[in-house]
Amino acid sequence: MEKAVFIDRDGTINVDKHYLYKKEDFEYLPGAREGLKILQDLGYLLIIVTNQSGIARGYFDEEAYLELDKSMKADLLLHGINLTDSYYCPHLIDGTIKKYAIDCECRKPKLGLFERAIKDHNIDINKSIVIGDSPRDIGLAGNNKYVKGFLLYQNFDMQQENIYYMKGGLLEVAEKVKEDARMDALNNRGKNLFIRNLKKWFLSR
Ligand SMILES: [Mg+2]
Ligand SMILES: [Zn+2]
Repeated sequence: MEKAVFIDRDGTINVDKHYLYKKEDFEYLPGAREGLKILQDLGYLLIIVTNQSGIARGYFDEEAYLELDKSMKADLLLHGINLTDSYYCPHLIDGTIKKYAIDCECRKPKLGLFERAIKDHNIDINKSIVIGDSPRDIGLAGNNKYVKGFLLYQNFDMQQENIYYMKGGLLEVAEKVKEDARMDALNNRGKNLFIRNLKKWFLSR
């Protein structure tokens, strides 16, 4: 099974410009690409999970969303970052485009998009991470204490159980995840050494 990072798009990877759909308006947040690269190198699948109610509101269509998604993926690839997949919710219950004006199961904080991703990519949810700039992005971590949830661009740094409030963005998250992995490895090494020494001690008696 794979471990994954589920990443919100607007306000997490790129500057949130409210119902962004034009390529020329797409602007990365500082450290976003660097952070994604580190997370990828740590062995995580990178999966975008985004609410795009601009579609239900009639501000842009699915095609425009997919165009932007494609160009972002191509750009990331040029920077050595391979997005595994992206999932979006086009719905909004009181949207103006009838087809999308439904109470769906995929608009975050609902978990429909995550459930699809988990199934599509054989993801071990308990080893995964969810990142966003709004509490509704990290509902998965609220539901499952084994999932680490990172809430970005907060006024303070704080950890509350499995939820991390961060002043910084994706780069700071990636550094934190990397440091945690290093500490886990050290702890395991320490534990193994302790057990080995204990065995030695027993055998020598
Ligand atoms: Mg956002
Ligand atoms: Zn939806």
